[in-house]
Amino acid sequence: MRLLAFLGVVLASALAFPRLGLHEGYTRLVFDLEAKTQYQIAQSPDTLTIRFQGIKVGAADVDVSSPQVASYQVVVASNSVTVFVRLKPSVEIKSVVLEDGNRRRLVVDVLASAQAPAKPNPPPKGLEPPRPRTQPKVVVIDPGHGGVDSGAVGFVVEKEVTLDLALRLRQLLQKEGIEVVLTRSSDTHLSPDKATDLGLRAEMANSKRNLFVSIHVNSAPNVAQGIETYYFGSVLDPSLLAQVIRENGGGELGRRLTQEAQSVGERLVRDLIAQSNLKFSRQLAHYVQGALVQATGAVDRGVRQAPFYVIRNARIPAILVEVGFANHPEEGRRLQTEAYRQTLAQALARGILRFLSNGE
Ligand SMILES: [Zn+2]
Repeated sequence: MRLLAFLGVVLASALAFPRLGLHEGYTRLVFDLEAKTQYQIAQSPDTLTIRFQGIKVGAADVDVSSPQVASYQVVVASNSVTVFVRLKPSVEIKSVVLEDGNRRRLVVDVLASAQAPAKPNPPPKGLEPPRPRTQPKVVVIDPGHGGVDSGAVGFVVEKEVTLDLALRLRQLLQKEGIEVVLTRSSDTHLSPDKATDLGLRAEMANSKRNLFVSIHVNSAPNVAQGIETYYFGSVLDPSLLAQVIRENGGGELGRRLTQEAQSVGERLVRDLIAQSNLKFSRQLAHYVQGALVQATGAVDRGVRQAPFYVIRNARIPAILVEVGFANHPEEGRRLQTEAYRQTLAQALARGILRFLSNGE
C-alpha cells in the first residue's frame, strides 16, 4: 500500500506540467514537450508568460511560495496552453532547451537577481524603521464581453452597458483614492478565443489586488427582471444552467467551461485558503447586492452561487454582478439611460467601499 502511494506521487510529479524544483537560490520549472511544440515567452516585471501551441495538459493553479516564485497558473484554451508564472521581486530568468530525440525539455530557472541589494542587517532592537505607508487598495473591474462578443442583446447591448458602468465606477473609486485596474477600457476582446479571453480576465484577479468585480447584463427567454450577484460555487441550480453557459462563452464551449469551473469547485472544497476566500466573496456579494437594490428599487434576485469560469480561480474576493435584464421592456429601457447607469455605478462603488473599509 505504501509502495503504491509512493508510485502515485512519482507518477503525479512525472506528469506535472511544469515539473517544479525548489533549489538553494533558484526555482526551476521544467516543461516536457514534443520536438515540434511551438512556444513564446514574454516577461513583465511580475509575470513570466509562456504560451504553448498544440499541447494537451490540464489546467492548474499552484501556490509555489518559494523565495523567487509566488505561484503559477496553467490556463487551457482550445488550441493553446498559457502558463503564467508570478514572480517575486528582484529575480531574473534563465531558460534553456534540452533536445533529446523527438522530445525536448524547456528548463526555466528563476534566480535571485545578481543586482538585487544584499539583505541589510536587522536594525538593533528599539530602532526598527517605521512601518511602510499602507499600499493603496487595488480593485479589478471586468466589464463583461467586448469586441467580437456582444453578450446579451435586447433594449441595450450588454458589452456597451458593462463598459460604460465600469468606466463610471472607475471614476467614482479613483476619487476615493482607490487604484482601479480594468480588464478592458474600450470595445475590445482580450482574445477572439473565448476560453483564452476569460482566462486572461481571470488572471487579473491575482493576489496583489484586493478584489475583483465582473459586471454583466442578463437576458431571459421569458419576462424576467431584477439584479443578482454571484460568488463562485460548483453546485449549479438547474434553473441557472442556460445563463451560466451563456456567460461562460455560450454553446459547446460554454458547456465545457462550465464543467471545468464545476470541477475546480470540487477541488476547492478541500482547499482551506479558497474556502476562506469564498466567505469574503460572499460578504462582498451581499454588500454590493444590498447597495444596488437599495439605490435602484429593482427586483432583488438575491446573492447566489454558480460556476462562472471568470471567477473560478480567484485568489481574492471575486463576484459577478448581473445588473438587470437587457430584454425586459422596462428594465432594458432603464438601462439605456445615463441617469440609471450612474445610479448603478454609485451603488457598486458604495458596496465595494463598504467591503474595503471593513478590513479584509
Ligand atoms: Zn455577460
